[in-house]
Amino acid sequence: MSRLSKKSPALCTDLPLENPDICQKLNVFKQLLTSCFGPNGKLKQVHNNIGGHSVTTSTSEVLLQSVSPSHPLLKFIAASVLNHVGRFSDCGLFAAILCFALIDQAKLSGLRRNVSISINQYLLDICTAYLHQDECGCKVQLDFSSSKNLITLARSVISSKPACMLREQEALHISMLAVQAFLLTVPCESPGNVRLGSTVTVAVEGPPVAQSAVFPGLMLEIPDHFKLSNKNNFQSQPTKMVLFSVSLSGDLFETDEGTVEVYHGADVESQILDQLLVLGRCAVEDRVELFVCQKVIHPVLQQYLNQHDVVVLERLGAALVEPLAELTGSQPLASLLSTIPPEAYGLARGLNVKNFGSKKMLHLEAPGEAVICTMVLCHRNQTLLSELKVVVQKAQHVLRLTLREPSALLGGGCTETHLAAYVRYEGIRRAAEATSSLCCSPTEYLLGTEAFARSLEGVARALEHDGGTPMVDLTHGHHWAVPVDETPDLEGKPLRRCGCGLVRGSSVESWTFLSTKYAEFSPAVPPGGRAAAAQPAVLDCFAAKMNALQVAVETANLLQDIRYIVQDKN
Ligand SMILES: [Zn+2]
Repeated sequence: MSRLSKKSPALCTDLPLENPDICQKLNVFKQLLTSCFGPNGKLKQVHNNIGGHSVTTSTSEVLLQSVSPSHPLLKFIAASVLNHVGRFSDCGLFAAILCFALIDQAKLSGLRRNVSISINQYLLDICTAYLHQDECGCKVQLDFSSSKNLITLARSVISSKPACMLREQEALHISMLAVQAFLLTVPCESPGNVRLGSTVTVAVEGPPVAQSAVFPGLMLEIPDHFKLSNKNNFQSQPTKMVLFSVSLSGDLFETDEGTVEVYHGADVESQILDQLLVLGRCAVEDRVELFVCQKVIHPVLQQYLNQHDVVVLERLGAALVEPLAELTGSQPLASLLSTIPPEAYGLARGLNVKNFGSKKMLHLEAPGEAVICTMVLCHRNQTLLSELKVVVQKAQHVLRLTLREPSALLGGGCTETHLAAYVRYEGIRRAAEATSSLCCSPTEYLLGTEAFARSLEGVARALEHDGGTPMVDLTHGHHWAVPVDETPDLEGKPLRRCGCGLVRGSSVESWTFLSTKYAEFSPAVPPGGRAAAAQPAVLDCFAAKMNALQVAVETANLLQDIRYIVQDKN
């Protein structure tokens, strides 16, 4: 029996950003993302009605991957942000919040859409050029001879993700480990093209965060009954090892793809086992002391190897094959041979067993300089641990990005308010040139500039979730958050520090509330700012923020440019 249903016509929405229903959806999505922003952001718990884990997070990547926006415009924003964090790891919420703010401010300004789009693009270029200048007042050079700014950078990433539930000391400990792991992956002695190594992360549920640690080399999970034989001298000399990526279980169906011809009466199982034992004998004769397999090893072969004092490690998993091969210089063997080619062997050093909570691990190091390290992350429960793992990987990526661009932007909302002040000052200084090149009136240009500056300030404002009052100083253009229980004082000089921690209250002449009209000024560089010796308390990744700024403006412009949405409803 067949059923026929009438084909419904496609749904066409005219001027989607003016449609109240779509605006409502955009608003909810904006609030969802904005409320996650910064160290005081509120967590989100996502339950999927078809089962699986429930997710608790405040990171844009995890959140956007867990929720599935229904409307094409929301899907587009989510895809832009996910694409950005996929490449840069950080500043995803910054991109989303700025994008929403630009759309809102463009609406409030009442500008024609094409004018708003061209002014946004013009001001983005002004911001990008300024951020790349050496004289930029919201940028600090990173000094690789000291780890302090690198730790600050890692800590800013880690502290801005409250779902990790880290205490201050724990956040500092994890930040230091992230920097230590990053430094271990930078080769010291490789002339020519430098290739960075990798960090393998092992998550251990149960022990306190303070027990997390970084080890040079690899930590391989081993079963409880695993023991290192006392006969081998693993500490004093390198250990010869071999690594198989093919199953050694003896099961015919696990060996390889292809056709197998079996003669009548042949005992396949025993023939495969014989072949495995030939392999084992070859390894023993070649003085192999560590025999590793990505998959399962037949118990008889394991027993044979153990009898000859060979340490056997099975079920390594596909993810660890490449790092182990790189660490030891071995070549993973992908088929059953009767002999092991000499070049397939590798060397490991200093084998020893370590315990972390319920996990037992075999630690091995490279015979020479290692650019592979293992970060063991411990946390109280699985939910906190999975967020911590994501966050540490982000921090490590951000640290790697500093090798391309050894500078960082001031965090805590200061870059946003400083840039807003710069856009007002520089934008107005260039008004005549801009109005003629953008073919708009001076009034339109001023409205567009103010909308852009307020959008940037809107991101700094989004850091506040507990009723505090955001302010800006009129000397450096930094962001100041007055706590909810204090009365903001525009005349007084409270001895506090700004959001990034670089400017002291005493060095500021005057203040105003954020997003209020003030006379344009050229925001000054804070005393000691820009220099490598400057020690702000919060830093943002330069490359990530630059790209996020671009993504936000381009996404907002594209959304403003959409005249119709056509949706197939079948
Ligand atoms: Zn600051």
